[in-house]
This record gives sequence, C-alpha cells and structure tokens, in this order.
Amino acid sequence: MNIVLLGAPGAGKGTQASKLVEKFGMCHISTGDILRAAVKAGTPLGVKAKGFMDAGELVPDNLIIDLMKERMQEPDTNKGVIFDGFPRTTTQAVALDSELAKMNRPLDAALLIDVKADVIVNRLTSRRMCKQCGYIGSVSDATCPQCGGEMYQRDDDNETTVRNRLDVYAKSTSPLIDYYRGSDLLVTVDGDRDPDVVFDDVISSLNM
Ligand code: AMP
Repeated sequence: MNIVLLGAPGAGKGTQASKLVEKFGMCHISTGDILRAAVKAGTPLGVKAKGFMDAGELVPDNLIIDLMKERMQEPDTNKGVIFDGFPRTTTQAVALDSELAKMNRPLDAALLIDVKADVIVNRLTSRRMCKQCGYIGSVSDATCPQCGGEMYQRDDDNETTVRNRLDVYAKSTSPLIDYYRGSDLLVTVDGDRDPDVVFDDVISSLNM
C-alpha cells in the first residue's frame, strides 16, 4: 500500500507512521526527518532548508520534489510507502501523482488525522524527541522510554514558530484535503484520542 498521511503539524502523523511501520513493515518517508538530518550534516540541501524550517515556513517545492524523486528510487520503497509530511502543497501532490504513475504504483489512500488547532499548540510546545531513536514523547519523558536516549525539543517546536506552522498548514496544505477527496482517496480519523485508539481506527479505516 502507498499512503499519504495528512494533518496539521503535531496531529500525530509521525506516531501513527511508526506504528504502521512496526506492524506492517512499510517504508516510512518523512521529509521533515530527511531535512533535519541534512541540516545536521550540513549538506547543501540542509544549508538551503534551515532558514525556512527555523521560521516554520515551507521549504521550496523544487527542493522537496527532487528529494522525494531521489528517495523513491531506493529499493525499500517497493514494500509500500507511508508519506509523512509530504505532499504539503498542491504542486507537490501533483508531482507525487505523476511520479507514482510512472512507477506504476498508485496511491491507495490519503489518511487525514484530524486534530483541532488549540490541542495542537499544547502538544507541540510540550513535545520532545529522542536524539538516538527518534521516539516522539513529551516533556514528562526525562529520558527516552524506548531506548533510554536523551530527549530534546525540536528548534521549531516553540510557540511562535508553531503558530506560524499552523498558519502555513491552513493556507498551503489543508487544500490537499479537497484534492484527495476529489480523487476518492480521503480517509479521516479523529486524532484527538490515545495514540493506540487512533491506530486501531487507522487500521480498520484502511481495511488493513
Ligand atoms: P515536519 O517534521 O514534517 O513537521 O517538518 C518540519 C519542517 O520541515 C517544516 O516546517 C518545513 O519547514 C519542512 N518541510 C518538511 N516537509 C516539507 C514539505 N513536504 N514541503 C516543504 N517543507 C517541508
């Protein structure tokens, strides 16, 4: 299966993606994770992307589309892909459709994890991630409950940047809900519940 995860920043896309990977062994492509690794390594892509990311703005479409096309050439994508944080604009969605059509691997669903904005601001400003394994936890996790690694706060999880990311989502990314509804691929789950309960709903909504 090839699935696009839709939802505001902090809706739980990364958490649900990890659960799907664990249960079904799919390939998880998170453009945010790829970009953060590029920033950390100081690659040309990372240098170009950093300013946009720190401000909570979108990295330009051409950079993201090139990154995605390259990533899709890797053999692990044969297993089926969970696209997390991509596409974020209609231009990216059209590019993804055309790339998948070329590879003869159609999209099976666009899963919208629906959470209200006020819940999101709280979630994101208290979110912490593991430096070692990428586990997504909260401020109450002194160390990573999964591997014992050090937890940190993402640079863009401060309140000012979070509010901008939500504005950017409303303006540039939420139109994709109608885009995928139009192609009959949209599946919606309520993301304002315990992650395991959301996951049960994800599996049954996708008939997995
Ligand atoms: P995320 O981890 O998905 O919340 O992404 C973190 C940041 O990376 C975003 O706020 C953007 O600056 C950038 N980013 C990630 N994915 C994309 C994308 N598909 N298009 C543009 N920018 C992106």
